[in-house]
Amino acid sequence: MVAIEQNILAKNDGYAEQNRALLRERRIFALNLVSSPGSGKTTLLVRTIEALRSRCPVTVIEGDQQTANDAERIRATGVPALQINTGKGCHLDAHMVGAALREMKLPQQGFLFIENVGNLVCPAAFDLGEAHKVAILSVTEGEDKPLKYPDMFLAADVMLLNKCDLLPYVRFDVELAVANALRVNPTLAVFQVSAETGQGFDDWLAWLDSGLAALALTAASG
Ligand code: MG
Ligand code: ZN
Repeated sequence: MVAIEQNILAKNDGYAEQNRALLRERRIFALNLVSSPGSGKTTLLVRTIEALRSRCPVTVIEGDQQTANDAERIRATGVPALQINTGKGCHLDAHMVGAALREMKLPQQGFLFIENVGNLVCPAAFDLGEAHKVAILSVTEGEDKPLKYPDMFLAADVMLLNKCDLLPYVRFDVELAVANALRVNPTLAVFQVSAETGQGFDDWLAWLDSGLAALALTAASG
């Protein structure tokens, strides 16, 4: 069982490196958005795109078991989105993303957001070729999620604590949630945001801009 799993992941890592090479060549800053179902990923993505799209090309890959609902919400913002339906599968893998990248018209420089299937378990193990995994935790969930699903919060470089506009109405200890996340991953960057009101988006957008700028710099230097 363990040998089979290692074999699958080794194959995946090979495809992920191909994706990463293509994205580097195109100077595309790719983020893999992971969370439980219902954390507000798509709403957060729509607001992020609305802020970014006037200054930089944005492309989106949407992963869900069924429906093209989220890709349609993204396309309504005016940016291209390709929906992958995984059927019985509970995560995207690098082979699926590679096929999507070949099918899409990728710009030269810009952002690629990959919205993974809502699942805090196996997407942690599957590298898609992204620059960073971004974990989204919402204040309607438990503060102990990072402790329950440590692999995901360790694999991520950023945590967005979403739905912060609801804090007056829910029992959620922000300090405890952040402390739990940092216990699992001390280098995690944490942003408290609300996709509904835009609270905290300045810092999140500044982080995205600096990532894209750093990528352009390394590409320029060789
Ligand atoms: Mg979604
Ligand atoms: Zn899975």
